[in-house]
Amino acid sequence: MSKYVFVTGGVVSSVGKGIAVASIGTILKSRGISVSVQKLDPYLNVDPGTMSPYQHGEVFVTQDGAETDLDLGNYERFIDISLTQDSNITSGQIYSSVIAKERRGDFLGGTIQVVPHVTNEIKNRFKRLAEKSKADVILIEVGGTVGDIEGLPFLEAIRQMRKDAGRDNVLYIHVTLLPYLGSTQELKTKPTQHSVNELRRIGIQPDVIICRSDYPIADNLRDKISLFCDVDKEAVIPLVTVSTVYEVPLVLEEQGMGNLIVDRLSLTAKGGDLSEWRNMVTRLKEPHKPVNICLVGKYVELEDSYYSVREALKHAALFHDRDLKLTWVPAEQLEKMDDIDSCLRNAQGIVVPGGFGNRGIEGMIKTARYAREHKIPYLGLCLGMQVMVIEFARDVFKSVSVNSTEFDPDPTYPVIDLMPDQKNIASKGHTMRLGNYPCKLIPGTMAAKAYQQEIVMIQERHRHRFEYNNDFRQALQEKGLVLSGLSPDERLVEICEVKDNPWMVGCQFHPEFGSRPNRPHPLFRDFIGAAKDILREGAQPALPLTN
Ligand code: GLN
Repeated sequence: MSKYVFVTGGVVSSVGKGIAVASIGTILKSRGISVSVQKLDPYLNVDPGTMSPYQHGEVFVTQDGAETDLDLGNYERFIDISLTQDSNITSGQIYSSVIAKERRGDFLGGTIQVVPHVTNEIKNRFKRLAEKSKADVILIEVGGTVGDIEGLPFLEAIRQMRKDAGRDNVLYIHVTLLPYLGSTQELKTKPTQHSVNELRRIGIQPDVIICRSDYPIADNLRDKISLFCDVDKEAVIPLVTVSTVYEVPLVLEEQGMGNLIVDRLSLTAKGGDLSEWRNMVTRLKEPHKPVNICLVGKYVELEDSYYSVREALKHAALFHDRDLKLTWVPAEQLEKMDDIDSCLRNAQGIVVPGGFGNRGIEGMIKTARYAREHKIPYLGLCLGMQVMVIEFARDVFKSVSVNSTEFDPDPTYPVIDLMPDQKNIASKGHTMRLGNYPCKLIPGTMAAKAYQQEIVMIQERHRHRFEYNNDFRQALQEKGLVLSGLSPDERLVEICEVKDNPWMVGCQFHPEFGSRPNRPHPLFRDFIGAAKDILREGAQPALPLTN
């Protein structure tokens, strides 16, 4: 039977709960304890797929095609597991399911209430993941901050779990912030006390408190928190800000987190070997020669929009013993400029990531042209591949009326077009081509070389509606746009590349989701491999751009 660890957050949002949960997963896995993870999001959207990246940050796609919270990406990267749609639960999903049951007549005669109907639905999702994953420990992160109105049904459900799963099979961890007062130069514990009081008011007594802080936490503060919050001192775990998130598992382990969870939940653990992780962090913190990469996108003002892309670049740079110097370039700004060289002069490699809608597209197309003409390594991710094809075709057909029908409904050359199975879809939620699809690599291409496979299938995660228009395959192939990955029936172009560039590859999928700190994704690895030794004449730090 699985045991449960519930993680709540207090004081402020963005306190690092997701990283704490992911790190606990790393620690438990290193002790031979199997884990699965779930994120509870209190908003009423069924999933974040329809939300703007500015609202939500990146939408992380699981292998089975669920559009989920970006915390799932951290869980996958830290624990090195593949999660499914069962790992992200929103209030929207819970309520639609309860209401559908009510309409079907499942509760005939009953009045449907938050307790027990909504809370039962939530608990069923915990238990379903436990049954399916058969993991020793299910880690469950409650999104939002304790005290939020919309989080209450989730908190009530996790409170009830202590009885449902048995007192000794459930552990509550509360992550809080100790703010620092500059005037008196001290860390304050009062907000933590209040937040724990709020938790207790709804019936949850935390077993462990993780205290986030930007400054070292003195022992007497741990005593104070232990006294006021009724938590053993050994279970008041300081987590001082570190230079890389990948260090957090090491810090928590050092503070006794692993032993604490194993003891409290009476788990059978083997050793606890984080040496491979430790080596990775040591290498990450060592100074290396830089590799300058420009990311040209639509949502660059919010780095969280491209969270997995940034992490995948970091993993690849680490593989090559380089420090990633990433410059975020707003595509829209390039649109208006005659000479984009001043913005991209420093780039040893250029990434154009995924995106939707018209804004900034011409800036991305200019970027792809710049990469092709200057022979700068280029990695196009989903929209980035489509942009690469449009740019190449504009050059071949000597026309500006070359586009994706997403941006121009009737161009002379619609080189990117809606997929046939998308043509009659009107509804926006969960209707894209989502999740893993197989792709056949074409031998001798840069892509095949990266994956080191010969005509073997790879599986990659997708999230798109448009695709390379097959009517233009031959004309573009003849001019040097190589098809390097195709769907097994050869109907869809999944990867293509530009012949006369040291490394210019676009893929219709999102390889960033599959990258791990110790195992960079092959395409990111080879992209940085090609970029790291590119010499740019007259290179200087790229100009900071403002809107
Ligand atoms: N907007 C493009 C499409 O739907 C690209 C999507 C993406 O980059 N994820 O095909």
